[in-house]
Amino acid sequence: MLRENTLTQSIQTEALLSDKKDYNMEDLTFVLFGATGDLAKRKLFPALYNLFLEGKMPESFSVIGLGRREWSHEFFREKIAESLELYSRRDVQEELLPKFLNHFQYCALDVTNPAAYEHLHAMIRQGEETKATSGNRLFYLSVAPNFIELIAENLNRAGLNQTTGWRRLIIEKPFGTDLQTARRLNKKLSEAFDEVEIYRIDHYLGKPMVQNLASLVFANPAVGSLLDLKKISNVQITASEIVGVETRADYYDHAGAIRDMVQNHLLQLVMMTALHLPETITADEISMKKIEVIQSLRPIKQDEAYRDVIRAQYDAGEINGEPVIRYLDEPGVEENSKNDTYFAARLHIDNDAWRDIPFYIRTGKRLDKKSTRIVFEFKNPVRESLPAEETVPNLLILEINPHEGITLRLNVKDESSEFFQPAYINFTKPSDNLADAYELLLFDAMLGNATFFAHWNEVELSWQWIQPLLEAFENNQVPLHTYPAGSTGPKAADDLLKQDGFAWW
Ligand code: NAD
Repeated sequence: MLRENTLTQSIQTEALLSDKKDYNMEDLTFVLFGATGDLAKRKLFPALYNLFLEGKMPESFSVIGLGRREWSHEFFREKIAESLELYSRRDVQEELLPKFLNHFQYCALDVTNPAAYEHLHAMIRQGEETKATSGNRLFYLSVAPNFIELIAENLNRAGLNQTTGWRRLIIEKPFGTDLQTARRLNKKLSEAFDEVEIYRIDHYLGKPMVQNLASLVFANPAVGSLLDLKKISNVQITASEIVGVETRADYYDHAGAIRDMVQNHLLQLVMMTALHLPETITADEISMKKIEVIQSLRPIKQDEAYRDVIRAQYDAGEINGEPVIRYLDEPGVEENSKNDTYFAARLHIDNDAWRDIPFYIRTGKRLDKKSTRIVFEFKNPVRESLPAEETVPNLLILEINPHEGITLRLNVKDESSEFFQPAYINFTKPSDNLADAYELLLFDAMLGNATFFAHWNEVELSWQWIQPLLEAFENNQVPLHTYPAGSTGPKAADDLLKQDGFAWW
């Protein structure tokens, strides 16, 4: 049976490889800072491997992995193979693995040591000469955020960004810790790279459902007409997690949900949701439209933030029948920390399309379930003629993570009941073999397509919108609520929607 399975997989992979489309990819050297880290292991190597299997890597490419540890090339390749066994969505094909791993080399480099970059430069040049590649260089900084500025400066000083081919820089979140630090970081990066060469990863933009919002509306006029804005009462965006702070207290206890999730992922989802409606747009227009949306986002003043914003921290509770400690007892969290592990807010987009339709956003750790979704709630005229409890509003739910799906909630009546019952029309994509966000984003970056990356203007405007809230949190102008671990969040967040006659879905 095992042999049969292996044989089938092998045939499928052969088919995959022989089915290669010509993506017209240019050869490149992929310089990966942080190659011994968690992100590389869990996401980047598996993404590169799956792209390789799909024929979505250039004919000639070399990956130079960098880390502090002294590893040999062989040991590095063993580590990559281990990570593929653990995290690749496709099974590892023994006969193809050496071919893939041959593209990888390792170089120990302390990013704080400027002299080390000379050695790296020599290694890149030697690779480019041996493989006669055209000097295209992709630098991926998968390292702690405090190193980003320094690495860009050292790349610049040692001339690694001077090349005969193209050069691109991919960086991870967080991009700064507030408006001022984000601006400084951007200024530093722009000394070494042009804006069009900087690819800021927001992996929520790599989720297929988010990328396909445009085509969903374009290819399905029925969905487009459902989303007639005159019929929508509000939009809700949720990104909830079951996990707590885990081992990241060092970073998270200073960042909180507001910096970790809201400034980047949630505001990006607000922009992506609002820009596609009421009309469909082309990929080229996406960034421009996103900027229009974030510019139209009504500012929330620092001393008025308590009216529209809820912050909270998880208390002890229970998840899946297991007791869970409160945030303040987590290792590494400061005593009496006022950090937010939950954030909810009421937003208004002051443009013609969305002016009368509130957006509610929320995110939190240690909630009852893991889910990222966008819910459109429709107006409920039936309610005027029936007691409120007899009908529920129609909903269109776009599930982004961990499953992808579309659900429409309707009211139906059957002979067994005199009341309406909610019924669901649901399509869920099987999630076991879905391309990971990093696959889609790395592929785009290699092709030079920055559509689904966060542009500086979007990042700056997001920080600008968030800044008064950061200050309100700092000065305790917004009360810090608590919620039991395993719940749906603080009561205050429910009350926020109740004020407007709504409830969270
Ligand atoms: P990590 O701590 O696991 O890895 C850090 C890497 O940096 C290691 O390879 C380490 O060798 C290297 N490093 C540290 N100090 C160095 C030095 N002086 N010189 C050279 N290399 C040095 O971190 P991670 O989880 O892989 O995260 C990397 C980046 O990605 C961070 O910016 C993080 O915020 C971001 N990120 C991570 C995830 C995730 O799922 N892990 C998700 C989103 C964003």
